[in-house]
This record gives sequence, C-alpha cells and structure tokens, in this order.
Amino acid sequence: MNHDDLNLWSKRAADWAQEYHATLRDRPVRAPLSVGAIARQLPMSPPEAAEPVEAIFADFEAIVPGGMTHWQHPRFFAYFPANASPASMLAEQLANAMAAQGMIWQTSPAVTEIEQVMIDWLRQSLGLTEGFVGTIHDSATTATLSAVLTMREQASAFESNIKGLSGQAQLRIYASAQTHSSVDKAVRVAGIGQDNLVKITTDAAFSMRPEALEASICADLAAGLRPAGVILCAGGTSIGAFDKIAACIAVAKAHGLPVHVDAAWAGSAMICHEFRDLWAGVEGADSIVFNPHKWLGVQFDCAIQFLRDPAPQVKTLGLRPSYLETAGREEIVNFNEWTVPLGRRFRALKLWFTLRAYGLEGLRARIRNHVAWSAEVCEALSMIPGVKITTQPILSLFTFALADEAASEALLTRINDDGRIYLTQTRHEGAFVIRVQVGQFDCTREDVMMIAQVVAELVAAR
Ligand SMILES: *Cc1c(COP(=O)(O)O)cnc(C)c1O
Repeated sequence: MNHDDLNLWSKRAADWAQEYHATLRDRPVRAPLSVGAIARQLPMSPPEAAEPVEAIFADFEAIVPGGMTHWQHPRFFAYFPANASPASMLAEQLANAMAAQGMIWQTSPAVTEIEQVMIDWLRQSLGLTEGFVGTIHDSATTATLSAVLTMREQASAFESNIKGLSGQAQLRIYASAQTHSSVDKAVRVAGIGQDNLVKITTDAAFSMRPEALEASICADLAAGLRPAGVILCAGGTSIGAFDKIAACIAVAKAHGLPVHVDAAWAGSAMICHEFRDLWAGVEGADSIVFNPHKWLGVQFDCAIQFLRDPAPQVKTLGLRPSYLETAGREEIVNFNEWTVPLGRRFRALKLWFTLRAYGLEGLRARIRNHVAWSAEVCEALSMIPGVKITTQPILSLFTFALADEAASEALLTRINDDGRIYLTQTRHEGAFVIRVQVGQFDCTREDVMMIAQVVAELVAAR
C-alpha cells in the first residue's frame, strides 16, 4: 500500500464513516457480549505475504462494526460520553496525515504553539483567572498522576526522584470517597501507597467535609506523618458529587499544601456561566484537570491540565538530555517536560477545529440541552411505578433503582440487551444503582426521553 492507495482508500473510509454515522440509531448501542466471538474470526498468525487492501477493508467491514459498542450513538447514556464532533474527526485526519511527533518545540513548532494558544482559549472559556497555563495529556489519569508526583517531590524537597522513597517521611494525600479510582492509581504508582491516601468523610451532599480534612491533616502532623497534597472532586464519576472547593482549598492552603482539582467530566460544563457556582473558588487550585474528550466534543484523547505555576511539575518530570536540546533557544517550551511520556501527538489541532466549528455558543447550547433533558427524563422515570430516583441530577447525571438490588441488576441487563439505549451501574451508599448521564454530542430530546419509554416497557413486562 502506497500513498496513492491511501488517497483512494481514505475516500472509501470517509464514505464508510458517513454511512456508519447515518445508521447509528439502527444499531444496538452496546456490542453483543459473547467472549471470543471477534478473536475467533482472525487468523492465529500474521501473514507472510502482503495482502490487498480490498481484502483487509472487506474483513474490517465484516468483523469490526458488529463487535463495537457505539460511543457516538445518540442514545449512549453509559459511563461518560467520549464525544467526537465531526470537526474534531476532520482535524484528527489532518494530524494523522502529517503524523508528527511533538515532543519538543523544534520537532514541530505548530504543535507546541497551537497547544499554548488553545490552553489559553480554554482558560478563558471556563472563566479561569489569568495566570493559569497548562498542557494536554492523553488522559485525566496521567494528569492526576503528574500532579501527585509533583506533590511527592514538593513534600520531599525534590529528593525522591533522586534518592528514592526509602528513608523519606511517610507522605499523606487527602481526597473524598467520591474521587475517581485514578487518584488511587496515582498514589500507588507514585510510591506513596494506597494506605496513605486518606479518604475524608463527606456530608449529606457527598461533599468533602472541610473540618474533617482539617482534623485529618492535624492528626497526621501530630503522628509525625507528612501531608503532601489535597485532591478535590468537581463532578465525581459515580453520582457527580462536588466537594466544597473554596472551603477545602482554604484548609489546604492554611497548611501550605498543593491542591489538584479533578473536573474530568464536569469541567466542560463550566463554559456555561450558570454552572460555575458548583466549583466556586477553583482559581485557588494549583492544578485542575478536565477532559474535552468527554463532554466538549473533542475526539479522544484530549485531557487538559491547568497549572497555576508549571515550575514544580517541570522540575519533577522534565529532563533535558543533550539529544533533546534545541541549539540557542532557552526560552522555548518543551511540553514533554510537563508530562510523563516523551512523545506527544498533535492534539491541539482538534481543539482548534472544534472550538471554531461550533463556537462557544454552539457548545454551550448542547450542554444546556443535556442538563435540561436529564432533569426531564429523571422526572419521567420517577413516575414509573417501582422506580426510585436514588440521586438527583447533578448537571446531567443521576441514578435510579428498583426496590431490591437483584431486580435492579436484572433490569439493567434487560435494558442493555434490548439495545435501544445503553446505561451502566454504580454503587451508591453500598447499593447497586443504575446511572444515567446525558451528554452525547448529537442526541435529541427524543433520544433522551427514550430512556423513560424503554424503562417503563421493561418494568411493566417483568
Ligand atoms: C473519566 C474520569 C477520569 C479518568 O479519565 P481518563 O481521561 O479516562 O483517565 C478521572 N476523573 C473523573 C472524575 C472522571 O470522570
């Protein structure tokens, strides 16, 4: 296959994509789950001889779509969305065509400079104060890991990277029980240890109690342990919980601790002024992560980390061996020094295309619709006999259940086997509940109200 073939087949792929998106509503949202069914259709060993693209493409069409869960389906209400606007898909095609590796400024100045401008566009879009800079990571998990590694280095006077962790004081990180498992992973990978992630108790709204945070920090100090940082939840994955950002930051700052805010999902909603009260005080954070690849419409992967001051993170993660130097240029930014991997894709291009193709007004209109329709379908579900709303909508996320757990689990299985909609579950206060989030880029009010229709039908048919 050469570049002439690529041209031909790219056009075929574009036609295929159009047909795929036009027929999504006719497909079951979740892939049929029979383990091994896809793998069995592939040969056990790679080919020795070259094969024609025609044959490869035919096998793609025959095998792959039937094994996919359709994330761009307008009735995908599971997990959180992974929206890919058509504009961001176009940008990805162009980035693929150039296939650049943007590890340092001189390996493609456009990759670094468009990223810097996009970070500032997003800062303004979310209403963050001037002074925040930032970078793009592959995932919120990596951004949070970077923040935790930086907390570790700051707490050990930048000695852990050099001397290792043995002999260092026992570090402590604080978060609420509503924070994402990526926080647990970060403390594990950073060598701080799961037992040193202190889960602070929450109030009736499932927000971290600032006085409990204060008490934990003081108890640890009295016991000779070393507090290293606080991680706050702004839109938790389970039920959408928000910590009281301003009050918790005040506690952290009184102890001189850095604060990282995880707004991976909810950050996108902050382009709408009316939701910003939910994270009031966020400008006091040192680090904030949000994923445009979730709700904003920017194709996976694209996770933004805003930093009040990049210096501690660059000191933690940055290395500049001679083969990565750019002769005569000290002032340039090399974004690999802000992140864990060296290599970096051109992710800023899809941000640029998406923000321009829809405008902030277009993106706000979608998010406002999702929040309004979520409230409407929650109300409709609450009218169905036997259905209990277990948590009220926070932005566009709520949960419901039937009277007993086994019935809820069975209902969820039937919903997803039915295929018209796709929902997933969580555990809330120990109980199995069904999650609903509204956020797919192209969904309509009718798509969302289909949730109530499917649930009513399946509950009545029990
Ligand atoms: C999705 C999510 C994450 C993890 O995001 P990745 O980009 O997949 O690593 C972390 N925190 C919250 C609150 C999330 O919703």
